[in-house]
Amino acid sequence: MAALSSVPGQLAAPADDITAGEGILRRQAQRESAARTYARSLPVVPVRARGMTVEGADGRRYLDCLSGAGTLALGHNHPVVLEAIRAVLDSGAPLHVLDLATPVKDRFTTALFETLPAELAEHGRIQFCGPAGTDAVEAAVKLTRIATGRSGLLAFSGGYHGMTAGALAATGDVAVRSAAGDMDARITRLPYPYDYRCPFGTGGGRGAELSARWTANLLDDPKGGVQPPAAMLLEAVQGEGGVIPPPETWLRRMREITAARGIPLIVDEVQTGVGRTGTFWAVERSGIVPDVMVLSKAIGGSLPLAVIVYRGELDVWQPGAHAGTFRGNQLAMAAGAATLRFVRENALDERAETLGNRIMCRLRGLSAHHACIGDVRGRGLMIGVELVDAEAEPDDFGALPNAPRLAARVQQEALRRGLIVELGGRHASVVRLLPPLTITDEQAEAVLERLASAIEAALAGADGGPA
Ligand code: PMP
Repeated sequence: MAALSSVPGQLAAPADDITAGEGILRRQAQRESAARTYARSLPVVPVRARGMTVEGADGRRYLDCLSGAGTLALGHNHPVVLEAIRAVLDSGAPLHVLDLATPVKDRFTTALFETLPAELAEHGRIQFCGPAGTDAVEAAVKLTRIATGRSGLLAFSGGYHGMTAGALAATGDVAVRSAAGDMDARITRLPYPYDYRCPFGTGGGRGAELSARWTANLLDDPKGGVQPPAAMLLEAVQGEGGVIPPPETWLRRMREITAARGIPLIVDEVQTGVGRTGTFWAVERSGIVPDVMVLSKAIGGSLPLAVIVYRGELDVWQPGAHAGTFRGNQLAMAAGAATLRFVRENALDERAETLGNRIMCRLRGLSAHHACIGDVRGRGLMIGVELVDAEAEPDDFGALPNAPRLAARVQQEALRRGLIVELGGRHASVVRLLPPLTITDEQAEAVLERLASAIEAALAGADGGPA
């Protein structure tokens, strides 16, 4: 592989490669599903990648702040990941093993348990699931339903848990759920604290208190309409919902409320795990220990892998209660174990915390010059910049409307400047930064410069349209 410099400039690719790349994009548009997503806003044909740098078929290089939707804790093709994969390939070990025991799986499980909160590490169980996060969410919900004999689920506005039926039902996004019919039957939707757009019309942490009060009240009210649920499912920091970190006191309250009522607490750490939010697992910051943790994305070191870990007392389901052909991805387990160890040994969670705070501080500085930056928030290297329509009238509680078109323009201008960013949040108005935890100071600087320049260009507005 040709070396890719850490802060890419733009190189001209041979004309044939450029044409080949254009052909690939054209054929993709003709042949792939209308449901494709990233491919629409990021017309890049990646041919090489290393660390944070992705090179397209046209020779253009990008700093990748999408990182496989938060998957690549160590960036693309990290040497320890490649070495771990090669070692399995060279060993002659079987690549497909269903859920049989193997040395590779044994090492992965040990590496994972070394990172878990002590109570789960000592007495917990692990279930290997089908390879996507959504399947692990299904497993977690099923487990708690079986263990409690109840069916209802408490989930939160803005939550994202996946696209299979049960996980989709817990997801807050009405648009993505509507195609699947009424999925709310057994879901009680609760308000997630979101200070900038507080559902109670208040800010300064009051919303979190009211959310906790609402939750406890609803559960205790015999006429509240809520059957005792099988579980509460939440993200310790909402990702797709718009990078929303709740106060740690709120997480502790949710733990108290569920524990006091015998409701298992499932924390979905699919996106927040493996150092991303400044601690190895996002729950560590509040000190809560969930009954079930849902893990995927970064635990596979860029390859598909998903598990749940849970308290031993819940382990009452029968053999085959949650099965799947692809629960034994040996390459993913090897890549994942290498990633877990590397993050731990190099304290990349601490690095994420320090650098993330620095980046957020700089972005807040930028917001002083740009009224369109309504809010900058996040934890560690999970950062969101909420864009708003600064020309519009604020609502009764002082919040400005979202600016989806401006956000889309920022994303496109960023891409033109060699920066890949993701959009998320309500009305896709939050520019999301999910760089690898290995990002250098120099790369962070380049990300900030390119993003600032993209915002300016987007405001100058190529099409002059509304926000
Ligand atoms: N939970 C969370 C918190 C997620 O962010 C995602 C994916 N973005 C999922 C679950 C679903 O994971 P997958 O796309 O691998 O099914």
